[in-house]
Amino acid sequence: MSISIEGITKHFGSFQALKNISLEVPDGQLVGLLGPSGSGKTTLLRIIAGLETADEGRILFQGEDVTRLHVRERRVGFVFQHYALFRHMTVAQNVAFGLDVLPSRQRPPAAEIRKRVGKLLEMVQLGHLAQRYPAQLSGGQKQRIALARALSMEPQILLLDEPFGALDAKVRKDLRRWLRTLHEEFHFTSVFVTHDQEEALELSDQVAVMSAGQIEQVNSPQKLYAQPSSRFVFDFLGNVNVFAGDADDDVLRQGEAWVRLPEVPAAAQQQLYMRSHEVRLQNAPAVHAHLPLRIESISLVGAEVRLELAPQGWDAEDLWEVGITHAQFNSWQPNRGDQCFAVPQVAHAIEKDAHTPRTIRWQAGEMDDPAAMI
Ligand code: ADP
Ligand code: MG
Repeated sequence: MSISIEGITKHFGSFQALKNISLEVPDGQLVGLLGPSGSGKTTLLRIIAGLETADEGRILFQGEDVTRLHVRERRVGFVFQHYALFRHMTVAQNVAFGLDVLPSRQRPPAAEIRKRVGKLLEMVQLGHLAQRYPAQLSGGQKQRIALARALSMEPQILLLDEPFGALDAKVRKDLRRWLRTLHEEFHFTSVFVTHDQEEALELSDQVAVMSAGQIEQVNSPQKLYAQPSSRFVFDFLGNVNVFAGDADDDVLRQGEAWVRLPEVPAAAQQQLYMRSHEVRLQNAPAVHAHLPLRIESISLVGAEVRLELAPQGWDAEDLWEVGITHAQFNSWQPNRGDQCFAVPQVAHAIEKDAHTPRTIRWQAGEMDDPAAMI
């Protein structure tokens, strides 16, 4: 069941929490709402659910206007960050709750409810815990029960508000994978709120990045990462290395550092944004870039080795961060305090005071032989 959000505006007193939000969630998709705390994610989710009313705009489910429908009539499943299970009820009773409280005319027979609950518990792989109480479950198990409870009403739309926010990293990862599988199996349409970019990029078909009550960009995770349409999105999606320089013909300079661009930039002042994997390191300056750095720290993080680097003879607001492979690390064997040079492969140019970055790619002939690089 598709969800259309059309021109939603919401004030709390004089504070505007949502500013003319429009978003399409196609049938069967999982759309992530990603943004910092206070950007309006929960408010938007509550408006979709019918737990909150908008000042302006409409919500449509499969083309049908539900703006004025009560939360009960919208028949959406809802999972919050805090499990909100009933403590005095067993797991099975918690999952059955929504069905048990239906008016008798709509309520399935007791045997049918038991069967459905059994199936749901199997689905979340917790059938063996049916007679336990919430206090006897781990956080991850509680959240799976909350999900089973939301699904007991067979909703076609599932709304999740930071459902894994209170869990530790390993459990979050398992639950993410499992939610994705469940989603593919049952074909509900989901909107998923998170402030964790990794979670949003991993789980979602589309990610809507929110900032201060507005949607900054909606795209697939791949597109969002490759072509962030604003500086905000760029900064929010992970670490970036920044070189700010003044243009002198096709060269951007700052202190002892410079980068030669493939074309003369339009503005006199530019910032180049480079993600950690868009920069390589070598022992000597490159043909198109002179960006001396000193190694400040070396950390082995899972699949890569991450280096923190301090600019030498030029300034940057933050340390640079570049990831290299273990194989590169082993052949180079760098130490703290060593000097090296950053070689941008791709950069995203942002003119001073401009909003939208422009991607720059150097052609092979404009760069050193990549084989010479570390
Ligand atoms: P998020 O979920 O992205 O953290 P919220 O949607 O919860 O953001 O909140 C967006 C903004 O609206 C915040 O500044 C918050 O303080 C404000 N807000 C949310 N709910 C209320 C409310 N019931 N009354 C007043 N202000 C609220
Ligand atoms: Mg929230």
